[in-house]
Amino acid sequence: MDFIDLKTQYRAYQSEIDSTIAEVLQSCAFIQGPHVHQLEAQLSMYTGAPHVISCSSGTDALLLSLMAAGLQQGDEVIVPDFTFFATAEVVAHLGARPVFADINSQTWNINPQDIERKITKKTKGIIPVSLFGQCADMTSIGELAKQHNLWVLEDATQSFGASHAGLRSGNLSLFAATSFYPSKPLGCYGDGGAVFCQDSLLAKKIRSLMNHGQEGRYQHTSIGLNGRLDSIQAAVLLVKLKHYEDEFLARNRIAQKYQENLKGFLQLPTLSSSNTSAWAQFTVSHPMRDPICDALRKVGIPTSIHYPIPLHLQPVFASYGIPDASCPVATEASKSVFSLPMHPFLEDKQIDHVCTEVVKAIPNY
Ligand SMILES: *Cc1c(COP(=O)(O)O)cnc(C)c1O
Repeated sequence: MDFIDLKTQYRAYQSEIDSTIAEVLQSCAFIQGPHVHQLEAQLSMYTGAPHVISCSSGTDALLLSLMAAGLQQGDEVIVPDFTFFATAEVVAHLGARPVFADINSQTWNINPQDIERKITKKTKGIIPVSLFGQCADMTSIGELAKQHNLWVLEDATQSFGASHAGLRSGNLSLFAATSFYPSKPLGCYGDGGAVFCQDSLLAKKIRSLMNHGQEGRYQHTSIGLNGRLDSIQAAVLLVKLKHYEDEFLARNRIAQKYQENLKGFLQLPTLSSSNTSAWAQFTVSHPMRDPICDALRKVGIPTSIHYPIPLHLQPVFASYGIPDASCPVATEASKSVFSLPMHPFLEDKQIDHVCTEVVKAIPNY
């Protein structure tokens, strides 16, 4: 059994994907070709975000957004303590300081009350992560940001297609970053990402920074990056986007089945009433996590830990000297969470098998 089964997905769409890649090969428009522009238009339509700038990865999508926001040395940005490293890395990369906020113990998403406690005079913005596919509490975070005159950049790298209060992830804040890393809900066949943006001037700046800070050909008005998405990845994404709604429904059906079968045995993911989830991961929690994962591995069921180390304990941030007491829920979650196989091609009998083995693996059951 695969944790995420990309082979079955490829086989399902193989003729479409092969022929669209062949189109790019025939055209030789490998960089910024028509597929890239077509993809941006379709992503805008799908998410509702007025401006979309495709780019080379989710990390670069976050970085380009922060560069465009003018983030500088000495500034502070509030990020969840419990996320993939890149969310904080991009802040530190620009010489600014990531400030770690604790999470909600039910959704594992950033806790708005702790964000408020951690705002200082140096705070410039907030990067809420829509973790495991479920949007963060973007309504409360948006209100808080408005009160304190901060920007909000949604890290939507796990939540493509999810919604909050009727709006899609990516369309919930001034700007947002998504990732097309192969194992993300909408993945390409290499690295890729996109920035979603509400403001046309900011979008223009991000697009320029993405391509070496150029405004006209060979006219460089700022220090940017080579952050372009290539045409082959865009072509693959156009095919996968066509099937995305079906995959989204399949993930939700699978999550529902996991919830029914595992109820009462472990802490299950909690979906807030204003949210839908893209179910990038089906993450659960149990104090006996490690023996359970060992037992599952022995019967051929892969699990994964998102994430085993909270950001404040990462060696590179040790010099900040942040105590566990600053983020107690994140610290605890890192010791007890694990993720079960989740992808849209998981069959009913596979889900039943995973659930049976999970229940058997729990000590005292
Ligand atoms: C995957 C991920 C990223 C980075 O995306 P890449 O495309 O791999 O650069 C950033 N933040 C979070 C929360 C992620 O899961």
